[in-house]
Amino acid sequence: MRILPPILLMFLFTLHSNAAPPLQATTPADFYEFQFGDFLVTALLDGFKPRKPAAIATDPNEVKKHLERHRIDEAVMASYNVFLINTGSKLLLVDAGTGDMLGENGGYLVDSLRAAGHQPEQIDAVLITHFHPDHINGLVSDGELVFPNADVFCDERESEYWLDEDQEAKAPEAARERFNQIQSILAPVVESERLKPFPSSSDLFPGVSASTAPGHSPGHTAYLVESGGQTLLFWGDTVHIEQAQFANPELTVKFDWDQGAAAKRRLYFLILADRHGWVIASPHISFPGLGKVIEEETGYRWIPVPYGTDF
Ligand SMILES: [Zn+2]
Repeated sequence: MRILPPILLMFLFTLHSNAAPPLQATTPADFYEFQFGDFLVTALLDGFKPRKPAAIATDPNEVKKHLERHRIDEAVMASYNVFLINTGSKLLLVDAGTGDMLGENGGYLVDSLRAAGHQPEQIDAVLITHFHPDHINGLVSDGELVFPNADVFCDERESEYWLDEDQEAKAPEAARERFNQIQSILAPVVESERLKPFPSSSDLFPGVSASTAPGHSPGHTAYLVESGGQTLLFWGDTVHIEQAQFANPELTVKFDWDQGAAAKRRLYFLILADRHGWVIASPHISFPGLGKVIEEETGYRWIPVPYGTDF
C-alpha cells in the first residue's frame, strides 16, 4: 500500500467527517408477500402523499373529531398500494399505480415489483378498480405500455362512462378535464386492443371474480380472491380516511361520484367482511393496506395485519 502524504490524509479525513448522513426520510420501494390459500399475494408500495383528510371530506368537522381521537392534528401520510396476485399460473395486478403523478414520492411500483422477484413483462393481466388517475397512470410511461403483455380488465360501466364522448359532453365543465386526462392515459391501452371491459360482477380467473361497487365512480369494482374457504377482498377506493370512515361508514369524500351509493357500498362490504372474517386489501390505507374489520358499538374498527402473518 502506498503511504499518503499527511496533508492529503488530513484532507481525506476532513471530507469524511463532513459527510454526515442526510436527515431526510426516504421511503424506498417495498413489498409485503403472504400466502392466501393456494395464492401468493403481494402488496406493492407505489408511493405516498401527505393529505389533509378534512379537506377531502364532505363533513370536515366530523373528520376532525376522529383525527383528534387518533392524535392527528391535520395531515396524514396516505399510501398508494398496488396488489399482485400470483395464482400459480398467472400474475395479476390489482390497479397500476400513480406513474409519474406524485413526483419523487411515487412511481415505485415497478421497482417494488422487481424487488418482489417479478418483471413487468411477466404480468398477464391488470384488474382495474376504477379509472381515477392514481390507479391507472402507471399503465403507461412515455406512451409505452409498462406491462406490455397484460390485458387490462375493467367493469364495462367504467369504460362506457369515461371513454364516451356523449358522457363527456354532458359532464359539468370542471369534470371534463378529468375525462380528458383519463382518455389520454388510456389511449395506448385502447389502441393496442389491450382494454378488456367485462360485464359487472364477472368471474375472471379460477378463484378470482369481480364484484360491482359503484359509487366512488360509475363502474368502481372490487375483486375477490377465494381459496380454501377464505375470502380476500380488494375493495379499491372504498375507504380514503382510515381514521374516520370505519368508525362512521356514512362519511363520504368530495370526489365520490355518487356519495350515497359509495356510503351504502362501504357499509355493505364492512358487514360482509366482519361477518365472514374477510381479509381486505386497500389502496390508500397505510402500507401494506391489509387487515380485517370488526363491528363495534358504533361503526367498525380496522385491524391491520400483524406483521409476517399468513392468513
Ligand atoms: Zn385512489
